[in-house]
Amino acid sequence: MTGISLLAGPDPLSGMEAATSHRTRLGALPVAGPRLIEALERSDLRGRGGAAFPVGRKWRAVAGRRGGAPVVLVNGAEGEPLSRKDRVLMEARPHLVLDGAALAAAAVGAGEVLLYVGSDHGAAAGALRRALADRPEAERRRTRVVAAPARYVAGEETAAVRFVNDGVALPTSAPPRPFERGVAGRPTLVQNVESLAHVAMIGRFGDGWFRDLGRGASSGTALLTLCGAVHRPGVHEVAQGTALGEAIDTAGGGLTDASSAVLLGGYFGSWVTAAEAWSLPLDAATLRDRGHTLGCGVVAVLPEHRCGVVETARILSYLADQSARQCGPCVFGLGAIAAAVGRIASGGAEAADLERIRRWSGELSGRGACHHPDGAAGMLLSALGAFPEEFRHHHELGRCSATALREAA
Ligand code: SF4
Repeated sequence: MTGISLLAGPDPLSGMEAATSHRTRLGALPVAGPRLIEALERSDLRGRGGAAFPVGRKWRAVAGRRGGAPVVLVNGAEGEPLSRKDRVLMEARPHLVLDGAALAAAAVGAGEVLLYVGSDHGAAAGALRRALADRPEAERRRTRVVAAPARYVAGEETAAVRFVNDGVALPTSAPPRPFERGVAGRPTLVQNVESLAHVAMIGRFGDGWFRDLGRGASSGTALLTLCGAVHRPGVHEVAQGTALGEAIDTAGGGLTDASSAVLLGGYFGSWVTAAEAWSLPLDAATLRDRGHTLGCGVVAVLPEHRCGVVETARILSYLADQSARQCGPCVFGLGAIAAAVGRIASGGAEAADLERIRRWSGELSGRGACHHPDGAAGMLLSALGAFPEEFRHHHELGRCSATALREAA
């Protein structure tokens, strides 16, 4: 575990930082106001839940809205199976998250703050509750913890709002979006916990300080969950703009095995070949230009003796199972794609399966109420690009080249 901003200070693995240590280390929380929103806009801080929407712009949209006192919904659902960074942050730095929530509430004029935490993240919810007990009374009164269902789609922002309103954690199609009419019909700011922790630092030290943390044209730092073939799996903080290979070497302690590819951004992310991954800068614009995203910050390194086709089939099967099954693309498309990729992976493909999954993936995008099918289709298309030979071997020969590699070793 490394730290340069959010994780600086006491070792995050040693547990929750107490209020006194937090205040001594970082100083008092400044007063929020229009200036903070301007600073956030200049900072180029983008949401860290996956969508990477500019934080300052989101806050301005809520602050300027009519329709009752806004609500701040702190999103700590973290339903991505490979991600741990939000949990580590909530467990180790709950006051930083609450500072960000307090600044958000003051900046948009919110009368209520909801801490939406995965129901399977008990330690994180416990740390936030204990930290809340040490906060000013006004903050305690307006804040409550809401247990989010432990499902992949529960963290999607419209699903979060719908769960608070109706007890159903399913996405809704826009409009209205939460910033227009969300919790109890009021303008609602839904913001990921890491984004809010960065806000707490920018509020104290300024947007220039934040921008200087990044490399090149990038601003700030990002929390990564490193896993797979690395010596030091876990949550690490790196400067945005750092090359992926350098992040794996310095934060992750280097590779335990030769690697064929990296899954970047989690299950809704993309497979990047090892050849491309090593020099790829973790910079939002560069990643977007190359068809990738940092998403929720997952970096899963695939050892070359593990099969990318089998891993892709496993992820698709999970995503098909986790869909809310309320829209056509998920009900009819995602399950069929997962089944076809499963047949290819197991060596029992039908003749048209490879052509089918290419065509169906293109047809899924943009058709659901949420981005669940788009995320799954994008991940599959990236797999087809990263593992062309492996897909061909599985499909035509019913054999796995990666497994053959392991057997030859
Ligand atoms: S696209 Fe899929 S996951 Fe999204 S709301 Fe529709 S059925 Fe649910």
